[in-house]
Amino acid sequence: MWPRGSNASFITLIPKVDSPHSLNDFRPISLIGCMYKVVSKLLANRLKKVLVKVISDNQFAFLGGRNMLDSVVIVNEAVGVAKRSKRSIVIFMVDYEKAYDSVRWDFFMYMLGHVERKIAWVKWADVCKPKAFGGLGIKDLVTFNKALIEKWRWRFVTEPNSFLCRVIKSQLADGRCSSPWWRDVLSLCLDDNWFDLEIMKFLGEGDATRFWLEDWLGLGHLEGRFHRLYNLSQNKYATVKEVGEWSQGIWEWKFTWRRGLRGRELGWLDILFNTINIGCLREGRSDRWLWEPGEEGVYSVNSAYSFLHVCDSVDSYIDFQSIWNGFAPSNVKAFVWRVLLNRIQTKVHLRRRSAIPAAADLLCPLCNLEEESCDHLFCTCARSLGVWLAVHRWFGFVTAVPSSSKSLFSQFSFLARNKKQRLAEMTVWMASCWSLWLIRNSVIFSYGVWDDDFVLDLIQVRSWHWIKEKVRGFHYSFV
Ligand SMILES: [Zn+2]
Repeated sequence: MWPRGSNASFITLIPKVDSPHSLNDFRPISLIGCMYKVVSKLLANRLKKVLVKVISDNQFAFLGGRNMLDSVVIVNEAVGVAKRSKRSIVIFMVDYEKAYDSVRWDFFMYMLGHVERKIAWVKWADVCKPKAFGGLGIKDLVTFNKALIEKWRWRFVTEPNSFLCRVIKSQLADGRCSSPWWRDVLSLCLDDNWFDLEIMKFLGEGDATRFWLEDWLGLGHLEGRFHRLYNLSQNKYATVKEVGEWSQGIWEWKFTWRRGLRGRELGWLDILFNTINIGCLREGRSDRWLWEPGEEGVYSVNSAYSFLHVCDSVDSYIDFQSIWNGFAPSNVKAFVWRVLLNRIQTKVHLRRRSAIPAAADLLCPLCNLEEESCDHLFCTCARSLGVWLAVHRWFGFVTAVPSSSKSLFSQFSFLARNKKQRLAEMTVWMASCWSLWLIRNSVIFSYGVWDDDFVLDLIQVRSWHWIKEKVRGFHYSFV
């Protein structure tokens, strides 16, 4: 029971305009007592903890962790579905006028006008540079918009059970989404895949990562690599956590097969053990998604914006277009693009993402001389160097092999005499990177054998196939 008078309040009307005519022209303010304020704050704080659980997830406004914009998207999706399936739909619309009005539009436009006038004589690209790079730090709207919209993707990955994600998922069929809005969101990142390449799963105890079906080691899905074992496994959808257990702080793998393994299957199991043991699980910590450029791995529009911006400026001398125009299959193009951005799953890279134990050695398993970085793997490792020299001889290049993948790329694109030759050289460069990567993995993980001549053969056959597929009447002699 409240003591009498403790919840009394005075309501005052403050006029919003000079000569108010209706009640709407006033802003009501109630003046309440201190005690009332304290008690209501206490109650509100307690309620806040359970609100998300008790309020149905189709309510969005003014609730921590929920986003009012979701409702707009969901209504949009509902209308889209109704239209496509020719069903009728009833929509009840309330306006957001109040929220919208709280922006001082006149002031905003005024500022915009002034900003534009002041900077008109500076190149727009320079203006958009971060202040540390001599720009004004004004947001480049196209890039900013990209960063803003890709936030939806991040939420899709990190909140797969939210109302919004369920709405989008309900429209998925045969790997294709019938929602135009969602397809637009996806297409924003199609040309260079920037979003997908920067997110990765932080492996805790493997509770939210599928053992066979997710790429948790950075080596591709185990399902594809060990298809035979995958077929024999009892639980194909098992999480990593379900494929073993902790015993006194040490992780032990425990597989269950549909029948006993025999013959070559046992050999495969050996290789599987060697492969999965490079990963490390952390007891008592949940798996979560990380956005690499973000602070503590969390996606923010600002971090995405600066990431995109830096990408654009630092690598402007690399002609990425020649990769995307090249003849290789698209997975190979995406792969070499990652090579150029230094985003390959090397030991050094895995350590940075703390995907391998801090104490593990980072030496290249092939030469044991240097740390396994991207540049080492593709250029300075003695094994790769031998292959590049062979490719150089084949092309008749008389020059040294550069020590970074970027310089190597430039070498291949600049030494060409004409456009046609350039496309061919680009293709060989991509085939070389791809072949080096595959042979390396097969030597390290599947007891493959390294042979420079054999790798060169592979490179020639691959480039020949890729070019032949795209160019009609292509003839080439290997002699
Ligand atoms: Zn090496």
